Amino acid sequence: MYQIRIWENIPWQEIQALAMLFLPREAFTVTTDEALGESQSFSVVFEGREIALPQERFFYRGCPPSHPKEWKNAVKRGVYETLALQTGYRPPWGILTGVKPVKIIRELEEKGMDLFRIRSFMEEYYLLEGEKNQLLLETLQGQASLSLPGDERAIGLYVGIPFCPTRCVYCSFPSNVASQEQVALYLEALEKEIDFTAEGVKELGLWPDCVYIGGGTPTSLSPLQLDRLFDRIFRRFDLSGCREFTLEAGRPDTITKEKLKVIRDWHIGRISINPQSMNQKTLRAIGRAHSPDQIKQANEMAREAGIGHINMDVIAGLPGEEAADFVRTLQQVLDMSPENLTVHTLAVKRASRLRQEDEHYNFKKQESMEEMIRQSRALTRQAGYIPYYLYRQKYMVGNYENVGYAKPGEQCVYNIRTMDERQTMIALGAGGISKICFPRENRIERSANVSNYEIYIQRIDQMLQRKKQEVFLPLKEDRKEGF
Ligand code: SF4
Repeated sequence: MYQIRIWENIPWQEIQALAMLFLPREAFTVTTDEALGESQSFSVVFEGREIALPQERFFYRGCPPSHPKEWKNAVKRGVYETLALQTGYRPPWGILTGVKPVKIIRELEEKGMDLFRIRSFMEEYYLLEGEKNQLLLETLQGQASLSLPGDERAIGLYVGIPFCPTRCVYCSFPSNVASQEQVALYLEALEKEIDFTAEGVKELGLWPDCVYIGGGTPTSLSPLQLDRLFDRIFRRFDLSGCREFTLEAGRPDTITKEKLKVIRDWHIGRISINPQSMNQKTLRAIGRAHSPDQIKQANEMAREAGIGHINMDVIAGLPGEEAADFVRTLQQVLDMSPENLTVHTLAVKRASRLRQEDEHYNFKKQESMEEMIRQSRALTRQAGYIPYYLYRQKYMVGNYENVGYAKPGEQCVYNIRTMDERQTMIALGAGGISKICFPRENRIERSANVSNYEIYIQRIDQMLQRKKQEVFLPLKEDRKEGF
């Protein structure tokens, strides 16, 4: 058993998250200790013996930290180096446990640091491994000028449809298998929110430059329901400046010729078809009711219908899959030549069935994950794709990352903007979280709708009031100050 004691000024949650990259949760404890201070900011004891680490090993360039954030990172480096020494494992993302590492290097770039200096800073300060450093820099370059909307009045719009035909074993989203009556009631409430939001957006002189309909699986709606939803959005919002409209089709078994016709008739340019795996056994094991052939058929139908931009999602680390299975999936997906390919690392979250069935799933998969991630980089590069957005989540197998790859020039604007958090994103529907950006103050506020769709239907008027108070009024104030 490891006992990690840290100075009380250090956030223990971050040290715990870091230690979990090396050890199962039950193999260590983290406690804060007011007796510790700057001179001895942490200690790691293993089976009664303290493991000493010279300060030069965790002080950045040998200098003692000068403010609290730097102390926190120094302690993280110390705990990292100690546990790396003990376990022989060096997690590739170093001490970075946050979700959006590209933001860090973008800020360094904007402060005037050149790429060479960014690379060495990330390696020495955050202990980032060379390949991850390279991936970050390539991702930054892959975003080119797309991270900033250019016009402060441009916003992003997210509309959530929280229904799926069945529930995947790893799912931690508020997705539901609902009756037709419930879906109809939900759409009615959603239409109310669309009308209300469109009014607020218009009043403030804002306009959506990207729209994303996600879920759940939006194509679990009928052709008629989809048509009505698009009609509402197009009629209420001014989409004349909209540069990208995405519909997450998700499950191939929900895609039909009729729905594709509706999508095409509304000129929805981008859809996402998410195979996750091309292995029949795996699809069954994760709770999906479709076959690999249906994925190929859905893709062919979408192309025949004239959809020009397709994203496909795959997941590395699915139950029962080794590196060779994942590589086969990747090759088959690349053969379909999607404009975008998103490679997810399975995140086994607490709310998922998989986590309840196997508490230690993450640790068991660590080794094969390394090979899967290495192959995904090599194969996408070989096929001419570039990384353009990247994020990490808690509880990811092997502490890896999710990477969006694109054919050059086909990067998804919405994905980049969501990660970059410099554009206001207004979210509608159950589980939607709006992010309101105040660029002059470099500040973001969040406003969340309830995630349970039944409560959303019951409390729709409350949701609208919340939107007014937490989204539109603050934006109005900001406008007064020179927006
Ligand atoms: S398709 Fe997505 S949202 Fe639906 S159950 Fe599976 S993981 Fe959850």
